[in-house]
Amino acid sequence: MNASAPQTTLARWLSGPRYGRLPDHGPEAAAPKLSFEFFPPRTDALEAQLWACIRRLEPLAPRFVSVTYGAGGSTQARTHATVARIVTDTTLTPAAHLTCVGASRGEIDDVARQYWDAGIRHIVALRGDVPGGGAYVPHPDGYAYASDLVAGLKRVADFEISVAAYPEIHPTAASPLADLDNLKRKLDAGATRAITNYFFDNATFLRFLDLALAAGITAPIVPGIMPVSNYAQIVKFSAVSGVRVPDWLGKFFEGVEDDVEIRRMIATVVTAEQVRQLQASGVDEFHFYTLNRPDLTYAIAHILGVRPMASAG
Ligand SMILES: Cc1cc2nc3c(=O)[nH]c(=O)nc-3n(C[C@H](O)[C@H](O)[C@H](O)COP(=O)(O)OP(=O)(O)OC[C@H]3O[C@@H](n4cnc5c(N)ncnc54)[C@H](O)[C@@H]3O)c2cc1C
Repeated sequence: MNASAPQTTLARWLSGPRYGRLPDHGPEAAAPKLSFEFFPPRTDALEAQLWACIRRLEPLAPRFVSVTYGAGGSTQARTHATVARIVTDTTLTPAAHLTCVGASRGEIDDVARQYWDAGIRHIVALRGDVPGGGAYVPHPDGYAYASDLVAGLKRVADFEISVAAYPEIHPTAASPLADLDNLKRKLDAGATRAITNYFFDNATFLRFLDLALAAGITAPIVPGIMPVSNYAQIVKFSAVSGVRVPDWLGKFFEGVEDDVEIRRMIATVVTAEQVRQLQASGVDEFHFYTLNRPDLTYAIAHILGVRPMASAG
């Protein structure tokens, strides 16, 4: 065929790259392991929304659910109240996020002891950011970085510890290699898993796994999945956290800014595609940023092959 002649539609389709088969959830396929992230509520109305979300997702029996910690410890009491209630009122296993910002080691150790005493055995250990933005400066008597916090928590009690990872590199890391060294330090200090910041390009995540393995990391690096239905909001978040938002995602939301239902449908399709491609690549653990809204996460979990447990709920 003349190379410059336009290809027929089929020729064009058949000359493109080929993808692996997407999972079909046959009887032998194990459902993936899931975890769900919530944020602590600020008002009674948000509290009701959070608990409706928790109740809706509870039957999916995630291996844990985590509750974030506001910048500079601003949600300390609300995070504690939420994880403590998850222990007493649900069948779920909570993980409490904890950060280094604005507190001495002694204060952070006290918070950790209170968690342990309330039956919370899993901490997501983070450095945190300066409230309102600005350059991070460690508290003079505090844990400087998440790796120091992990080591400190292990001295308080034998917590299960998860830490953060950044497939697109933490925005203030000196270099990709320095960031990987930091991740390894956090795991060597006693963390057993990393949870990634959200990302939209699966190739970037899979490349990050390759680099991590080459750097001697063997612990699971669980992809953090953000179902996006509010494009403007995600662009704002991502500018701060160094996540690349692809143009195609923006195009999907063009012209439907005022149509919540359509935006949610688009979010379901985009996220389902992302997790199924990851599943086709062998990934079988996922962490969902629920934003305290259950339906998208429930739908995606269902598509991944997760079914409610009769005994939960
Ligand atoms: C899954 C997940 C959950 C999160 N939950 C929360 C939350 O609940 N509350 C909240 O406030 N924030 C949360 N964050 C955001 C997080 O606090 C920020 O991304 C923060 O900027 C970095 O936290 P970290 O734990 O990754 O820090 P670290 O691992 O300490 O790394 C921070 C930066 O410092 C560099 N670094 C580490 N050690 C050294 C060293 N010794 N010398 C020089 N540089 C060093 C690293 O390369 C990196 O650039 C979360 C992020 C993720 C991915």
